[in-house]
Amino acid sequence: MSRETIVLSPDLRRYLLSVGVREDPVSVRLREETARLGGPAGMQISPEQGALMGLITALVGARTVVEVGTFTGYSALQIARALPADGTLICCDVSEDWAAIGRPFWAEAGVADRIDLRIAPALETLEGLAGSAVRGHVDLGFIDADKRNYRAYYEALMGLLRPGGLILIDNVLWGGSVIDPDNSHPDTLAIRELNAFVAADARVDVAMVPIGDGLTFARKR
Ligand code: CA
Repeated sequence: MSRETIVLSPDLRRYLLSVGVREDPVSVRLREETARLGGPAGMQISPEQGALMGLITALVGARTVVEVGTFTGYSALQIARALPADGTLICCDVSEDWAAIGRPFWAEAGVADRIDLRIAPALETLEGLAGSAVRGHVDLGFIDADKRNYRAYYEALMGLLRPGGLILIDNVLWGGSVIDPDNSHPDTLAIRELNAFVAADARVDVAMVPIGDGLTFARKR
């Protein structure tokens, strides 16, 4: 048996989804509603990644979470459901239109009061948080927004995180583009730069996991 990561055939992935993910009906409907957007729906995380992120939220014992890039709110729903009733998920996004798709589902799932959505450039929201009581008390951060600001988001979240807190970074394999020497798209360059930076960042313990489009775990020491 290979010690490397298994490649999922469509049938094997269906099996994984059938026994490895307990996706609740509200999440299923939000995912289906998002799929109607067509192309942009590709920005939504997969059900298995959602399950993992919910589990991680609980494992970290998170009470305060910051998500950078909320889109239609599927990942936010998975995180919010795993928070205690008085927990807070601060969501940063620039699109009210996309967030409006998720809002009714957050309400239906009974977690709307745990989600604090900030419609503004995320760096502005993060800067505001750095001057608030949240600084040093964030348990979990999730980065899944515009790739060119990934490095800046990482640094801003590091400043907000408590010791032992965790940053999750999405799309770190970027469809495989990270190893294509002919690909010098600014988004690819930004992801490559952050991956190299995090790998050498002595402030964190790191594991890059090949789920979805690649997910890095960086735990602040
Ligand atoms: Ca993503």
